[in-house]
Amino acid sequence: MFATIKKTYTFVAILFGSFIIMTALTTSESLFDQMKTFGHQKIVFCNDPDSGLKAIIAIHDTTLGPALGGTRMWAYKSEADALNDVLRLSKAMTYKSAVAGLNLGGGKAIIIGDSRKDKSEALLRKFGRFIKNLNGEFITAEDVGTNPRDMEYIRMETQHVMGAPESIGGSGDPSPITALGVFMGIKAAVKELYGNDALAGRSVVVQGIGHVGENLVRLLRDENAMVYVTDINEERIGQVAKKYGAQAVSNNTIFDIEADIYSPCALGATINAQTIGKLKYAIIAGSANNQLEDEQEQGRMLLEKGVLFAPDYVINAGGVINCYSELMGFSKKRTLQLTENIYEATRNVLRLSKAEKISTIEAANKIAEKRIADIKKVKSTY
Ligand code: NAD
Repeated sequence: MFATIKKTYTFVAILFGSFIIMTALTTSESLFDQMKTFGHQKIVFCNDPDSGLKAIIAIHDTTLGPALGGTRMWAYKSEADALNDVLRLSKAMTYKSAVAGLNLGGGKAIIIGDSRKDKSEALLRKFGRFIKNLNGEFITAEDVGTNPRDMEYIRMETQHVMGAPESIGGSGDPSPITALGVFMGIKAAVKELYGNDALAGRSVVVQGIGHVGENLVRLLRDENAMVYVTDINEERIGQVAKKYGAQAVSNNTIFDIEADIYSPCALGATINAQTIGKLKYAIIAGSANNQLEDEQEQGRMLLEKGVLFAPDYVINAGGVINCYSELMGFSKKRTLQLTENIYEATRNVLRLSKAEKISTIEAANKIAEKRIADIKKVKSTY
């Protein structure tokens, strides 16, 4: 689904109010061809020399509802990389919300720049005005390089932003909810493989014990799972291990550990051509986005190897569920219920994968595409 398009592409995009003028300078694949490849509806290029804002908002599909996705701020090496990232990420949001059963479409925004140096109130508020002009077709939230404070600035210009701090009526930090969803995904995979979903006596390696990882360690230890923790931050490994009674392990040795479950909660692409041969785990289930470097190739290899992969975008949907709840004015209780549904959503994916002998990621994609196609037909009459 998210195959990287290799290209050399530069473009100039100037947005005057609602008039978008775009000139492709050199490209091996035109912008519209790329939109066709990914299936996008709309891309908005935002340019504001005064604040230094350069951003791209990609709206992938709004069949199920408004396109919701975070805003990532990153110092991309090139505009082509930035465009590729936002196209890939926005499409993933469509699939994530579809499988989670939410009435949301998929979108994403990127701001080009170093989040430590280039952020300002003016830049974020200007970006908020671009979102405002989309009249609710796109709703954003925090992502890599942005935080709840940034959402507050965006909110000064538009109401179409979720994940503001709880103190001002937002849904706050989504990480505990994301961790709960991942925990449900792990239990569903354990049920599929071992016939019951009890975690006592099962062993789990959690790689990356940041916001999501630490909450996951807590949930796993509460059910008496044996937990190994690792991170690039050595100090954190010791702290978290001590706090929850987990085993501290070095990040370099994670593929040598004998454990049932590997839970990547740091970076993507940890399952790749180099690591897949070393995998000894029975289950892979974590929060990191895009855990498979090449989802088709490694998805198939995992199937052949008999490793059960709970697709990342199915089990890490807690964050988007949190935003959806905020949007709909749901209670905390309802948010928890929706997140607990990730257990059934994962079971459905694993069942379809088994029945049709397709990789779990292919199964998840099929479920998402079917829901979107079905609802498109529902909406075909007034
Ligand atoms: P975080 O930044 O709080 O934590 C990431 C942790 O991983 C940090 O402790 C960091 O030191 C560690 N880390 C970084 N590189 C590493 C490496 N190479 N090996 C081992 N550890 C490494 O991030 P988070 O909010 O906990 O999110 C974790 C992952 O889950 C990310 O990939 C994120 O995109 C994804 N995710 C998060 C949410 C959410 O609600 N926060 C929702 C969906 C997906």
